[in-house]
Amino acid sequence: MSLVVVGSMAFDAIETPFGKSDKIVGGAATYIAWCATNFTPVKQISVVGGDFPTEELQALEERGVNLEGVQIKKEEKSFFWSGRYHMDMNSRDTLATELNVLANFEPTVPESYQDCDFLMLGNLVPSVQRSVIEQLRKRPKLIVMDTMNFWMDTMPEELEKTIAMVDVLMVNDSEARQLSGQYSLVKAAATILKMGPKFLVIKKGEHGALLFHGNQVFFAPALPLEEVFDPTGAGDTFAGGFIGHLAKTKDISFENMKTAIIIGSALASFCVEKFGTTRLREISANDITERIEEFVQLVHFDINLQ
Ligand code: AMP
Repeated sequence: MSLVVVGSMAFDAIETPFGKSDKIVGGAATYIAWCATNFTPVKQISVVGGDFPTEELQALEERGVNLEGVQIKKEEKSFFWSGRYHMDMNSRDTLATELNVLANFEPTVPESYQDCDFLMLGNLVPSVQRSVIEQLRKRPKLIVMDTMNFWMDTMPEELEKTIAMVDVLMVNDSEARQLSGQYSLVKAAATILKMGPKFLVIKKGEHGALLFHGNQVFFAPALPLEEVFDPTGAGDTFAGGFIGHLAKTKDISFENMKTAIIIGSALASFCVEKFGTTRLREISANDITERIEEFVQLVHFDINLQ
């Protein structure tokens, strides 16, 4: 029984209306791992170049992340992404995507990862995500996939092949619209659910997240924060909290996914408070419990229709 996480490990350079970072460590699988380890150990699959800091890898190992599936290509450069956020901090432009080591990445699933019951396919080349599913001899109990507009623009057919194989797809609202060709998110969800996944999560940044399954819908708000410092990785952190909770409880019902969405939203609210993974490294189990409690208070109301 284990949680396997696949995704980019990267250098990011981020610009917001309030500040700018140098090259800092990021990547979808980095954020997912820092978050999901609050709930369960992680077996990581990724690739980095010789420039990736050894201390970062050691810190992840100390945190409970198995790095046997992370290839280190000493002669090559790590994946690099740079983005600039708009004033609302909800939308951003990608300034650069340098695939580097990701361009020819062929993942190898270690033998010790074959007990995978929960598979989190973080943002990565869709054919690489699919290769991991295909290398697992036993189909995991749940496969969750995150992706982004970059893959919709550059390799839509590859992307659709991978989407057809997963149980839960996570995208943001503009990606759901792009993928489905529908403006209404309800229509977009119906179209995407016909592509294969049984569950669809649509992330709406500061406006929360929606979970669709058949004709059921659940909505979770995002915590209203006074200050959002850096939204990078919020989606991955959300995914880490979502899958971390499901893997810990081993319950993949719609009801438990509602809880997982709240937990993902609570963890994402920490991520945005500081640049990069800084905040995720600081928080304690107590901080998480308190934040989840704030969510419960935020959405709880009694109503008497008499
Ligand atoms: P999020 O803000 O949750 O959408 O995720 C941001 C993270 O995704 C950054 O740390 C980037 O390194 C990573 N990222 C950006 N573009 C890509 C891509 N095309 N493939 C994989 N990871 C990416």
